[in-house]
Amino acid sequence: MKSRWTDAEAAQYTGPLGARVYTSRLLGRERSLVLHGGGNTSVKLCEKDLFGEEREVLYVKGSGSDLETIDAGGFAPLALAHLQKLTRLPALSDAQMLNELGTQVLRAGAPVPSVETLLHALLPHRYVDHTHADAVLAVSNTPDGAQRMREIYGERVALIPYVMAGFDLAAHCAREFPKQATGKTIGMVLLSHGLLSFGAEARESYERMIELVSMAEAYLERNRAWHIALPARPAAAPGREEIADLRRAIAAQAGAPVVLRVSDAPRFLGFAQHPQVDKLSQQGPATPDHLLYTKPAPMLGRDVAAFARGYREYFERHAARAKQPKTMLDPAPRMVLDPQLGFAAAGRDAREAAIIEELYQHSIEVILSAEALGGWRGVGEAHLFDIEYWDLEQAKLRKAAAAPPFTGEIALVTGAASGIGKACAEAFLRRGAAVVGLDRNPAIESLWQRPEFLGLTVELTDAAALNASLDKAVRRFGGVDMIVLNAGIFPSSQPLQDITADSWQRAMSVNLEAPLRLLQLCHALLRLAPRGGRIVVIGSRNVPAPGPGAAAYSASKAALNQVARVAALEWAKDGIRINSLHPDAVYDTGLWTEELLAARAKAYGMSVEQYRRKNLLRTEVASRDVAELAAEMCGALFAKTTAAQVPVDGGNERVV
Ligand code: ZN
Repeated sequence: MKSRWTDAEAAQYTGPLGARVYTSRLLGRERSLVLHGGGNTSVKLCEKDLFGEEREVLYVKGSGSDLETIDAGGFAPLALAHLQKLTRLPALSDAQMLNELGTQVLRAGAPVPSVETLLHALLPHRYVDHTHADAVLAVSNTPDGAQRMREIYGERVALIPYVMAGFDLAAHCAREFPKQATGKTIGMVLLSHGLLSFGAEARESYERMIELVSMAEAYLERNRAWHIALPARPAAAPGREEIADLRRAIAAQAGAPVVLRVSDAPRFLGFAQHPQVDKLSQQGPATPDHLLYTKPAPMLGRDVAAFARGYREYFERHAARAKQPKTMLDPAPRMVLDPQLGFAAAGRDAREAAIIEELYQHSIEVILSAEALGGWRGVGEAHLFDIEYWDLEQAKLRKAAAAPPFTGEIALVTGAASGIGKACAEAFLRRGAAVVGLDRNPAIESLWQRPEFLGLTVELTDAAALNASLDKAVRRFGGVDMIVLNAGIFPSSQPLQDITADSWQRAMSVNLEAPLRLLQLCHALLRLAPRGGRIVVIGSRNVPAPGPGAAAYSASKAALNQVARVAALEWAKDGIRINSLHPDAVYDTGLWTEELLAARAKAYGMSVEQYRRKNLLRTEVASRDVAELAAEMCGALFAKTTAAQVPVDGGNERVV
């Protein structure tokens, strides 16, 4: 591992915290050091208060920011002297420690300081960096890990056995560090947890971290225990329905919908097929830092009920010895290893599923390296339980409980690159859903760069391409719960006698046959939706009240409307609801060009301006108005409604 420091880049960071922000970001860029909010950094500065009195302030990373993108505001300033005194107390409960940290914050509105703050306070050095480096964990998580660490580092690090994070760890380090530290010491290793480096300058502390990690990497390389080869056999990938079925079973145990992210990347497949996968995968994560997202161990195979039974037993084994009464968390797996499937991550939402996947990628490397070195050994079940049911972690989970209404659910929107479709995608994203956007326009793929969105270019009339898109969607999110049938075309205005066979066929193909095929392909998925399947058809005012010159359009939309009504009849027994919206005069869509607008206005004998607001309420209807209603139709308000047809048109005399 190389230092990424450059003077030119460093010069862009100014102010007392500038260098701290810069090297924190450098650590954040190294995925094998810190992942997803893991790792933290600090600096001790001498500052004058309002009365001109000097005091030492510890700036430590607050919760809620990632090292890769942290800025000065992401650090919480605390009164250092008080924190140092705390580490000398004989005992302090975690709740008391958290309270003390809170009372010592010197800036209103600062983020909550890390639960590892006292580790930073007790070290006398100005800059402190803390990571959970893969290479260090690989050496540490072996039966003779402590001995190997000594062999690698000698006096360069203080060596601390595993103690749970929080006050006990800080108090232990406060006693041990001065005993072990010599003039050569540049860091501290916490076995089965991670390491700290320190220095007088930001660069020194950062480069010592890189140096210490590089030494562990070199040690692994010398022992042929780094970048382990992992053969993978080709597997018969499970179909969409099997994946959706697995997701449904996990959601049932979790008590809420989950996003299931499936990957058959060679490392995942190889690990899932490893002859000793049961031994290697069931000893917990490499560092307690990963546990909040991942639960103690992955589920092997796909028997969710058996996993849940095992989890209940694990809870009961350990809850009895806990000082405080514990309430069991949901018994659903967060990870699945299966020789056919590869790896699947079950997150409360798409972001969490992506985090779990990345954490486990790193876990696999650590496990394989440790196993090659002398035998992988995880944190141990009792320690795992203490962390998983640690009050401080449980508080974080409770905070996550107030989630938006479609959290863990998946919506598929056709024609999502622009207009009503794009507005629908936004409306579902706002409500917490993962969204699959389909469109023939390749712009769909880069519409949003976020884990909750998957944009796929597809010609909806191409059955094979549509099928392939659904495969991708289900592997990314685990199913399809809600569909917005939005994509459609409006052939140019033509009187009946002039409509060509081509124009007619095209309208039928895009507006009727393609949505019908999508419904057919998705029925099995909708049936497995944890909260029941929901479909919204974006119809048209032309269904109840056709317009002159629009025979092909009106007929195709009316036919789709009948399909929707039949679907309501046939699929109600499967828990699937289908409702239609009939928008009118929505002009901020890809369908409407200036020429088309002029032509339609002329057909009605109106100016374009009159035509825009030709409704009873004299209001303009926007894409967002339609999208919000489409999303609500999938929510609790419409839970008892199917086969409804609701106009979104500002009121139309011909419809009322
Ligand atoms: Zn840590």
